Amino acid sequence: MGKKTFKGISTVTLHTASHENDNYSHTTPIYATSTFTFGSAEEGMDRFKGDDKTRLYSRWGNPTFTAAEKTIEALEAHGLKNEQGEPLQVKALLHASGQAAMTTLFFSNLSAGDTLISHYSLYGGSQELMQKVLQEAGVKIILIDIHNEALLTETIKANPTTKLIHLETPANPTLQCVDIAAVCKIAKAHGIKVSVDNTVATPYLQQPFALGADFVFHSATKFLNGHGSALHGVLLGKDLELMHTKVWKWHVLLGGNSNAFDAYLLIQGMKTLELRMEKHCSNAAKVANYLVNHPAIAHVNYTGLATHPHHEIAKKQMKQHAPLISFELKGGIEAGKKFINAVEICTRAVSLGTVDTLVSHPASMTHMSIPKTEREKYGITDGLIRMSVGIENIEDLEADLAQALAKAQA
Ligand SMILES: *Cc1c(COP(=O)(O)O)cnc(C)c1O
Repeated sequence: MGKKTFKGISTVTLHTASHENDNYSHTTPIYATSTFTFGSAEEGMDRFKGDDKTRLYSRWGNPTFTAAEKTIEALEAHGLKNEQGEPLQVKALLHASGQAAMTTLFFSNLSAGDTLISHYSLYGGSQELMQKVLQEAGVKIILIDIHNEALLTETIKANPTTKLIHLETPANPTLQCVDIAAVCKIAKAHGIKVSVDNTVATPYLQQPFALGADFVFHSATKFLNGHGSALHGVLLGKDLELMHTKVWKWHVLLGGNSNAFDAYLLIQGMKTLELRMEKHCSNAAKVANYLVNHPAIAHVNYTGLATHPHHEIAKKQMKQHAPLISFELKGGIEAGKKFINAVEICTRAVSLGTVDTLVSHPASMTHMSIPKTEREKYGITDGLIRMSVGIENIEDLEADLAQALAKAQA
């Protein structure tokens, strides 16, 4: 598994978790087992001593998890080379959720007295994990306007205990982007590691390891799974030694392991990643163009629009613009509520990255626990609607938007 090199992304997602199993099953078997058997005491000892910890106890690893991990490793490292010019090897650890993977990332890199630098406009759960759990554990959390390189350097110098810089780009729901290569350059000069939340872009659109990141994080619940059928999180790192020792150990001890059924759903979902992303992205460009020209709309956030403040950064580091849009109706929160109530094809739900289009209202849903004054600083206003554009036929999507916007204006 994972030894062949494939030219294209669909081949990677179809053939990495391939058909190597005792019973010739075409799809990856669901190893629904908590533990694994030993033929003898000696065999048990050998397996415990060995490097492969995936056939001992499922909190430590499981062949179905391994198949999902190998696929994501192949995606994030696809076409990349290490400093010696050899194909880049990275290690992925599958978790029960994005939050579980983020917990492993933070606790295996930070302890009491250390500092974490991040930026505004993060996913609500990420910001809360930092400011509630990590802060209580003694880690100093500094959120800054990370686009200001002088401010970043100054903050690092004023906080020599900084161990990690965490980025989310594009960020959900305002689509703010961070220049990954620029931040990594500054971080590297100060011996600081960088982690990137790549959930919204997926490795199909953006590969943070190519830009200097040390860790890549995914809520695989979103575009990687693609069908909204399970929660999963993935933490990847390029320091293999560190990933196989401390990070793996912390993952096992914190207990955020996945399960075989969800891992199977992820493997199946990823098979169509490229096809789905192509359609998500082309639909999103059309929807954004439709919204921007509609008289009921005050403002549209989409990195594909030249008016988006980070349009150039997005173009530089992503293959295409991510299929997430947020917008403000001219009638503010009241019009926003009417719009959400009027949609007939778009699904009213939080989350993102499913094959169907999802609409939600961040201020009352995903970002409810972030104080209003704070969220407004980075554009999450009361009337903002977020849309994760699905793969429906565009005629149906546009017709649904037209009728819902007409009702919102009435
Ligand atoms: C959903 C999400 C998370 C959290 O992941 P879960 O799978 O819900 O635990 C983190 N970051 C981003 C950008 C997300 O969209």
